[in-house]
Amino acid sequence: MTIRLGILGGGQLAQMICEAAQALSNEHAIETLCLADAPDCPASRVSPIIEIDFSAPDFSAGGPLDQFVNQVDVITYEWENIPLEIVDWLRQRCTVYPDRKALATAQDRLLEKQAMVDLAIPVPDFVAVDSQTNLLDASKKLGLPLVVKTRREGYDGKGQFRLKKEDDIARAWEALGDKALIVEDFVAFEYEVSLIAVKGTADEKIVFYPLVENQHASGILCLSLAPFDAPTLQEQAQDIATKLIKQLNYIGVLTIEFFVKDGQLLVNEIAPRVHNSGHWTIEGAHTSQFENHVRAVCGLPLGNTAAIGYSAMLNTIGEMPPADQVQAVPNTHYHDYGKTPRPGRKLGHVTVQTSTIDERSLALEQLAPIIKNVLSSS
Ligand code: AMP
Repeated sequence: MTIRLGILGGGQLAQMICEAAQALSNEHAIETLCLADAPDCPASRVSPIIEIDFSAPDFSAGGPLDQFVNQVDVITYEWENIPLEIVDWLRQRCTVYPDRKALATAQDRLLEKQAMVDLAIPVPDFVAVDSQTNLLDASKKLGLPLVVKTRREGYDGKGQFRLKKEDDIARAWEALGDKALIVEDFVAFEYEVSLIAVKGTADEKIVFYPLVENQHASGILCLSLAPFDAPTLQEQAQDIATKLIKQLNYIGVLTIEFFVKDGQLLVNEIAPRVHNSGHWTIEGAHTSQFENHVRAVCGLPLGNTAAIGYSAMLNTIGEMPPADQVQAVPNTHYHDYGKTPRPGRKLGHVTVQTSTIDERSLALEQLAPIIKNVLSSS
C-alpha cells in the first residue's frame, strides 16, 4: 500500500527527505507532497508541491491547506518556524510528526531552555529580558560576556548580539530590543557537537547516530566531522536525547546541539527535524538521517545508524564551487540545491567519505582552496 507523505516546507531538507522516500521504493511505495512558499524551491525539483503563503494561511475548503491534507496520510516538517495555527489545523485532520509540543518548545528559546531545566539537562545560564534595564540587570547577574538572542525565529546566528562590555548594552537593545529576548552566558567551549536521535512509531527503540563535531563561522555551520569519538559524551548525549524524546512524545529525527566545556555537555538548542549537521549520513552512514526520518514517521523499521569510515561535510555558502574541481578530489560527493546564490545563503554541501582519518584530512586540504569556507582540515 502506498504511503502518502506530506512535508511542510520545500527547502533542501524537504528535497533530501523526498529523495530518501523515493529511494525506498524497492521496499515500500512512498509518495511525497510538499507545502512550499515558492514554486522553484529545492523540493520542487524532486516532488510535487502545493504553494502556500505561510504568513497568511488560507484554511478555506479547496484552498492549498485543504488540498494538501486531502492528499496525504502522514505529515512531517522540515523547519521549526511553521506557524502553530497551521499545524493545529492540520493535526485535526491528519497525523503530524513530530508532536506539536516539540515544535512549540523549539520555536521559543526560553521555553526550550526551561524544558531542559525541568528535565535537569545542563544549559548555559540564562535570563529572559524585556527591557534595557532588565538587560543591564541580567549582565550584572550573569556577568559578561553574554549572548543576547531573540527568543523566536533566530537561525544561523541571526538575531544574536555578543555582549562583551557594559557600554554595548544600548547597542544590543537597539539591534534586538523590539523582540522578546533571552540572554545567556557566553560559553568558551572546547567543541560544538550534535547528536541525531531517531524514534519511530514501529517500536519503542530509540536509535542514535555517532556524535558529530561542528564548526561555525559567523553563526553558520561550515564544517561537520563525523564520527566525534568520545564514548562518555556519546552516552551523556544519548541520555539527554532519551529524556527529551520521552518528554516530548517524539517521533522522527531529533537533533540536539551541544557545547562541550570542561568535558561536559551543555545543550545549546534542539531542532525537531533533520539537520544540516547530519547531511554526512547520506554517504557516511548505513542509513541516512533522511531515510530514517521517513521510516520513523511512516511506521517502518529504523535502519542502521552506524558510520561507515570517516566523513566530513562542508557547506557551500554564498557561491557554489565548480563541480569538476570538487569532484577531482577523491572521495567527495557534490550536492547542489539549485538555489539562487546570495551572500550567506546555504546553496549546497560537499561530503568527504573515507576509510581513514588521514585520507579525510588530505581531501579537506585539497578542498580548502576550492571551497572558501573550509575552517579546518583536522
Ligand atoms: P544558535 O543559533 O543559538 O545555534 O547559535 C549559532 C552559533 O553561535 C552557535 O553554534 C555557537 O557557535 C554560537 N553561540 C550561540 N550561543 C552561544 C553561547 N551561549 N556561547 C558561545 N557561543 C554561542
